[in-house]
Amino acid sequence: MQDTIYTIPVTEVYEKPCECPLCALQRRFEQDRVQYYLGPSLMEPDNRIETNDAGFCGRHFSMMYATQTNRLGLGLILDTYMAEQNGRLRKLVGEAAAKEPEKKSFLDSLKPKPKDSAKAADAILAYWEAHEQECCICRDLEKTMDRYIEVICHLYFTQPEFRERFDGGMGYCMKHFTRLLAYARKHLSGSKQDAFLTALLRQQQENLDRMQDEVNWFTKKFDYRNAEAPWGNSRDALPRSICKMTGLGEIGTDGN
Ligand SMILES: [Zn+2]
Ligand SMILES: [Zn+2]
Repeated sequence: MQDTIYTIPVTEVYEKPCECPLCALQRRFEQDRVQYYLGPSLMEPDNRIETNDAGFCGRHFSMMYATQTNRLGLGLILDTYMAEQNGRLRKLVGEAAAKEPEKKSFLDSLKPKPKDSAKAADAILAYWEAHEQECCICRDLEKTMDRYIEVICHLYFTQPEFRERFDGGMGYCMKHFTRLLAYARKHLSGSKQDAFLTALLRQQQENLDRMQDEVNWFTKKFDYRNAEAPWGNSRDALPRSICKMTGLGEIGTDGN
């Protein structure tokens, strides 16, 4: 496994301990993709067809908006994406109205016919439910995160210094912790699986305890008797613990 596209970022995020190296890897990948879609991709007709078709989820549109560097680029993406989607919705409504009723038995003909508006509503519900699962960035993200986890497990058993960093880490968010567990259960076996899972479970438990202690001290700081006591690591314990438990990645101070 000499795939430096994956090993370099993995090695880099493990150099400095953080609350979830996989969240750090995810953020790097997302930011890279956001820059790509706001930049080089804009002038590629094939990519525009893709973004008009699948669009982006709320999280990734928000990340594009948050960059604030290319509002025109984002405007161009949204303009043609909306034109495409509006056309599709209009077509679904038109098709519902134009559809010939199927040949019916005498009994069927006595039942009230479904209204065009109901047919259009059902067609739109089915279409949008599927569309919401699509996002140009999410689609690649899932595959990339699987590759990162594969690389992590590979490095764990081939590079002692990486293993040391992994074992000395601050744990993972629950989303990525469980993803690591699932990968190990599926792809590692025997003594390797046991060694990896034992180290991971211990590390996660210790760090969830640490995190809870930090939140607990945060609440105790509201007691006037502790007003002068040092904050320790508890000042930002709330956003860090929310990210730890939910895998949110990061929470903006403005609530975004
Ligand atoms: Zn994470
Ligand atoms: Zn997405």
